[in-house]
Amino acid sequence: MPLERANRIDEQTRSRFGFRTYRMRVLGLGLGTICVGAVLHEHGDGPGLWLLLLFNGLVWPHLAYWRVRRSADPINDEYRNLTFDAAMGGFWVAAMRFDALPSALLAVMLTMDKVIIGGPRFGARTLGAMALTCLAASAAWGFAFEPRTSYPVVLACLPFLAIYPMAIGFATHAISRKAQQHKDLLEKMARFDAATGLMNRQQWLYAVSVELNRYQRARRPAVLVLIDIDHFKQINDTRGHTIGDGVVEEFARLMKACLRDADTGGRYGGDEFGIVMPETQWEDAIVAAERLRRQVAAYAFTRDGLRCTVSIGLAEISPSMATVSDWIDAADRGLYQAKRKGRDCIVVG
Ligand code: GH3
Ligand code: MG
Repeated sequence: MPLERANRIDEQTRSRFGFRTYRMRVLGLGLGTICVGAVLHEHGDGPGLWLLLLFNGLVWPHLAYWRVRRSADPINDEYRNLTFDAAMGGFWVAAMRFDALPSALLAVMLTMDKVIIGGPRFGARTLGAMALTCLAASAAWGFAFEPRTSYPVVLACLPFLAIYPMAIGFATHAISRKAQQHKDLLEKMARFDAATGLMNRQQWLYAVSVELNRYQRARRPAVLVLIDIDHFKQINDTRGHTIGDGVVEEFARLMKACLRDADTGGRYGGDEFGIVMPETQWEDAIVAAERLRRQVAAYAFTRDGLRCTVSIGLAEISPSMATVSDWIDAADRGLYQAKRKGRDCIVVG
C-alpha cells in the first residue's frame, strides 16, 4: 500500500476514534451532570462547585475533542483525557459525599467505558486515578459521608442509568461489526488474488489437495488443467506492464466465465492459471479447455485489437499420483509439450 494512502487511512482511524469518544463523552458527562447537579442542589452547594460541574459536564467534552484534533499524538492524548474523566469522576463522588446511587453510577460507567476502549488494565488504571482524586477531595472535605440517596436524586440518575449503557451497547456493536468486516476483508485478501479475484496459489493448491484426497478415498475422477499465456513477456515488453496487467485480468474473466460451478480456478503464478475439475474425465476436460482456448484466441484484449493465445496442459488423476505435486507435474508436462508444439494448443500430460 502506498505510504501516503496508509497515512491517510491511519489519519481517518485516529479522527474516527477521537470523534467516537467525543460523542460518548458529550452524552456521558452531560447525563452525569444531571445526577451530580441533583445532589449538589440537595446539599445547597455554592457556585464554585456548580461552575466546576458545568465546566466538566458541558465545556470539557468539546475542549477535550479540540485538544485531540490538534494533537500530534491524538491516541495518547485521548487516553489522557479519559484518565482525566475518571479522575474528575472520583472528585464528584467525594463532592456528593458518597451519595450511594450516583456515586456507584459514576464509578461503574466511568470504568466500564474505559475497559471497552482500553481494556482491563486501562480500566484498572483509571479506576485507580478515580480512587486517588476521590480520596484527596474527600480528605479536603473532612471525609464527609452521606450515602443515603433521596428519591429526587434517584429520578435524576435514571436518564444516565438508562441511556448511557444503551449508547455504549450501540457503539460497541458498531465497532465489533467494523472489526468483523475488516477480518473478513483480511481473510479474503489472504485467500484471493487481488488483481483477478481468483484463488491465490496457496488456496488453489489446497483445493487441489481436497480433490486428491477425495480421489484417494472414493476414486472419483478429476482433471487438473494448467494454462499459461503465450509470449506474455513480449506483451509486457512491447505494450507495457499496464496492458500486461489488463490482459491477465481479462483472461481471468474469460476463464471464470468458462468454469462450471463445481470447478475451482486459481492464479497459480504470474501468467499461469489452474483449474481443478471434479467428476470429470480428460476427454470432457479437453472439450472445456478447447472452448476456453478458442475464446481467448478470438478475443480482442485491447481496443486496438491486441490478441493473445494460451497453452494448456491437463492431467486426469490416477492411482500413481500420491501427492499434489505428482498431479501438478503431470499437467505441467502437458503444458511444456504444448509450448514445444508451438503454443495455442492443449496437450494431455
Ligand atoms: P511463454 O509463451 O513460454 O509462456 O512465454 P512468456 O513470455 O509468457 O514467458 P513466461 O510465462 O515465462 O513469463 C511470464 C512473464 O509475465 C514474466 C513476468 O515478468 C510477467 N508477469 C508475471 N505476472 C505478471 C503480472 O501480473 N502483470 C504483468 N504485467 N506481467 C506479469
Ligand atoms: Mg507465459
